[in-house]
Amino acid sequence: MLNESQRSQLEKVLLGERDRLVQAAKDGLKFSMERERSIGRDSIDESMEEELFSTELRLRDREKFLLHKINSAIERLENKTIDECEDCGETISFRRLMARPVTTLCIDCKEEKEKEELTKSQTIGRGGGGGEESMGDHMDDE
Ligand SMILES: [Zn+2]
Repeated sequence: MLNESQRSQLEKVLLGERDRLVQAAKDGLKFSMERERSIGRDSIDESMEEELFSTELRLRDREKFLLHKINSAIERLENKTIDECEDCGETISFRRLMARPVTTLCIDCKEEKEKEELTKSQTIGRGGGGGEESMGDHMDDE
């Protein structure tokens, strides 16, 4: 069980990350609106336009996904269950929570899962990981 000071440190990290994400989402929106205005409809071919648009949507989905993770972590913090592993019920260490506040797994379960995912991605032949956007990756528990 976390003590009060640990809880407030975690809360600070989570709220800070949430602000950052909301800000990034706002900036992204502003950017796309400005682009709409500055790019002439006939100066860019449609497939490229479409591709830009879908990239942007993906980014926003990712932000939404992270935001959801952060919000549920804040909820778990309030319910004092943030340091319980959702797989085995063991305590997640404070150090691990500070590094990855949105995690729901203890380090043992996480490693177990990573092994599974590695096996899966090798079967598909993608070699796993890589190519992800760097933004917010440290909050991403993949
Ligand atoms: Zn566990």
